[in-house]
Amino acid sequence: FSNFKNFIMKKKIAILGSTSSIGKSLLDIINKNQKKFKIELLTANSNYKDLIIQAKKFNVKNIIITDLNSFKKTKIICKNKNINIFQNFENLKKILPKKVDYVMSAISGIGGLLPTHNIIQSTKLIAIANKEAIICGWPLIKKELKKHKTQFIPVDSEHFSIFSLLNTKNKDDIEKIYITASGGPFRNLPKNQFKNIKLKDALKHPNWRMGKKITIDSATLMNKVFEVIEAKNIFNIDYKNISILIHPKSYVHAIIKFKNGLTKFLIHEPDMKIPIYNSIYYQTLKTQKSTSLDFNILNNLNLNKVEENRFPLVRLLNKLPKKSSLFETVLITVNDYLVYKFLEKKINFQKLIKLINEISNLKEFQKFKKIKPKNLKEIYNLRDYVHLKLDALGI
Ligand code: NDP
Ligand code: MG
Repeated sequence: FSNFKNFIMKKKIAILGSTSSIGKSLLDIINKNQKKFKIELLTANSNYKDLIIQAKKFNVKNIIITDLNSFKKTKIICKNKNINIFQNFENLKKILPKKVDYVMSAISGIGGLLPTHNIIQSTKLIAIANKEAIICGWPLIKKELKKHKTQFIPVDSEHFSIFSLLNTKNKDDIEKIYITASGGPFRNLPKNQFKNIKLKDALKHPNWRMGKKITIDSATLMNKVFEVIEAKNIFNIDYKNISILIHPKSYVHAIIKFKNGLTKFLIHEPDMKIPIYNSIYYQTLKTQKSTSLDFNILNNLNLNKVEENRFPLVRLLNKLPKKSSLFETVLITVNDYLVYKFLEKKINFQKLIKLINEISNLKEFQKFKKIKPKNLKEIYNLRDYVHLKLDALGI
């Protein structure tokens, strides 16, 4: 009987971007308790080797691989295996005819918006790490969540912390939210040495191990600019009530000062497995081994305002429209494009910062601050338009 009970209680899950750093951490967690879960779908862009290994290991029936060449290779390799292979996110209803219990959205970049949006109808709960989707398409995601009565949990550590701290309280009880930033590898670098920064220095994050793109965004602090937008969207709080604090140890992730005089902190080790774990075991009692409180860090929290001269990109926050707009897509696209140029060593670190600032402030992009995104197509068309503009600049 207990076997039967375990069988019927298996949590059905799908992972968008299972080959990502977030996806792999989630699979590690699932691996420790395989009996409890049944994975219905895994996806990747081009890393078919890892995707196939994952599918075999977890006995997964459906995979999506978007890159055409990798899709073809996967088809050949898996010819005699009992796996359904798809190349896009159009047929999610067919792949997941019944709602699964949990989806993790961990594709990186704005490419994650469409899959995230489209899978909401097929799940009872969605945990979203893909911050670009939340930043560019929040009004569309929110609508889908409501329409399909799908629960949502943010995974980005600061937002997971705010979500946990808020509990049943509502946003009207909040006076101010602080999200923390480690300050990245250049928090203490003398300003006159910024010109010597090498790619490998920027990829050395002091506290977190993440994908390359977000690691660079952490070094420029653009990641925090994005996280402020993310927090404003998710929790419906005005920009003026959200602040960034530099906190080198990444032990505190968010602080909320409530109007009733109480202030709450959320602390955990800088390990994404903690928010991921708590999202998949949401509202179920499950203990996870963790280290004891570090009083040494607690006694030296060292929380400080951001030095804007060192991290000028945070000033972009002063110019953002109060309501969600298409301009966020411009900002994400410009940053994305330039970060890849930096990763390809086409521009240096100082140029990266200068160009993000200059290009996103171009007059022709400002009109998008007044336009609310109405559908996915509009967002992707704008992304393509911004790409063309950037190509024309010949960076
Ligand atoms: P990675 O760079 O490690 O992985 C990216 C994933 O997305 C891979 O599975 C990749 O497939 C897939 N992918 C990329 N582009 C596409 C596309 N166009 N279509 C379909 N799949 C695609 O990502 P991270 O784990 O670092 O980050 C994932 C998301 O979570 C990001 O939005 C990031 O900002 C956010 N986040 C990450 C944190 C972290 O600690 N890593 C912390 C907080 C938020 P393939 O492997 O085949 O290339
Ligand atoms: Mg974060």
